[in-house]
Formats: sequence, structure tokens, C-alpha cells
Amino acid sequence: MSDKILFIFIDGLAIPDKIDTNHLSIFPTISDILESSKPIDPVMGVEGTPQSGTGQTSLFCGINAQKHIGRHQYAFPCKKLRKLIEEKNIFSDLKKKNKKFCFANAYNTSYFAKESQRHSVSTWMCIYSNFDFLTEDDLLKDNAVYHDITNKNYIDGCVPLKSPKKAAENLLKISLQNDFTLFEYFLSDRAGHKRVEIDIIKELDGFLKELLSMIPKDIGLIITSDHGNIEDLTSKSHTKNPVPFFTKNLPLDNLPEDLSEVKDYILDALHL
Ligand SMILES: [Zn+2]
Repeated sequence: MSDKILFIFIDGLAIPDKIDTNHLSIFPTISDILESSKPIDPVMGVEGTPQSGTGQTSLFCGINAQKHIGRHQYAFPCKKLRKLIEEKNIFSDLKKKNKKFCFANAYNTSYFAKESQRHSVSTWMCIYSNFDFLTEDDLLKDNAVYHDITNKNYIDGCVPLKSPKKAAENLLKISLQNDFTLFEYFLSDRAGHKRVEIDIIKELDGFLKELLSMIPKDIGLIITSDHGNIEDLTSKSHTKNPVPFFTKNLPLDNLPEDLSEVKDYILDALHL
């Protein structure tokens, strides 16, 4: 069994009622992942449609964050959620236990020039755990992966394009150097909101195919999401469908039932 974990977080991807006739069926690897995943609950007893701020806090902090604040909160966490992230995020837990972790996404240089406090949950986790953000320099040295996988949308300068295969190799290289590696892909949620850019998912599909074909036994893989969206193009909104919890090279007992149980599953798998 593995002693390292690679966690691929895909924003806005749930399990549709019928995978084989769903529009996602044109993406073979994503379809296989959805079919072989355990469905887990992103709503968690709170009225309304699940959102990223609360869903991601639940995922990475091991608590029912939506219940904690009494609602589903959209992308950027409010003060109450930030307090939870500060106290309970998985990066800080791993740091306390002397485990090496990495947020493998490279940030644009211009991101840090902004005064804004509107960060996603993963960015807040890096801030609270004093993780050194990966940047363009890491991207150029193949020590980071850009959020779109291929660097096509990199906005600040001249970064060579990467094939999905090379990006998968780079992510596996990073994963071998850390106990826990997180990669976040959010173009899926954007595409779901726009309903028209679904072909962007083909890069994700190719990337996941390469990654699954190359992953060594000592890296445990988790692929999951915070809420549905892209699987249902009849609306531009999130859905209440169960999200996939996919694993490879990891224990199959005690799989989580909802987002709040994912962090404990990871810590158990790392024997912490
Ligand atoms: Zn969204």
C-alpha cells in the first residue's frame, strides 16, 4: 500500500443518474472514474445547493462547514469559514506531524500583486500553513502544474505549453517528493456555469488517463469534488448530485460518506 497521497480536486463534478448516456460519456477516463467511485454527499443536511466555499472547507478541514455556518457559501470563504480553515486545515495538521505537503498548482506572478483578500479555500490553507506558493519559476522547472494543465491560459509571461502527459509526469514527480500533494482543477466548474465550454474537459480527461497509467503503487490517489455542476448542462447552476470519491492504491474500508469525512480518511491512510 502507498505511503503518499495525491489528491486531485475537481471543482463541480458529480455523478449523473446515467453515466453512459450523459454528455460526459465522451470522456472515457472521467466516465470510468465516475463509474468506479463511491458516491458521497455534498449537501450534508443543509438546505440549498452546495457551493465551493463551504464544500471545500468541509473537504479539507474534516467538518460539516455548511452546517457550522447554517448555509452553503459560494467560492470565497467568509470570516467564519476562514476561522475554521485556520484551525482545522489538513496542511497545518500535516505540518504539525512533520509530514511534507505540497499544493502543486502554480500561481500567476500577478496574483500576489493584488490587494484582494478574496482567496479560495486552498489558497487560505497555504497562507495559514505558511506554505511557499509555487510560482512561474516552479512551472518553468517542471516543479508545479498550472491549473489548466497545459499552461495555455497562463497570463503573465512566456511559459511553454505542456502536454497532458508531461503535466501528469510532473505531478507524479511532485507527489513522490511529498507525503501529501494537492492539485486543484476548477475549469470544470467554470465550464458548467457557462454550459458551452465542455470540450475543455478533454484535456482533463487526457491528463487523468496518463496519470492513471503511470501512477506507481506507492502513491495513493484520491479524486473527488465539492458539488455537482458539469454533469448537468440543463442548468448553469450547481447540482445536489452525489460527488465521486475515487481511490487507487488506498484502503477500501471506511470510505467517507460525505465531504466532512474525507480529511479523516486521508489522515488514517497516512497512519496519522
Ligand atoms: Zn461554481
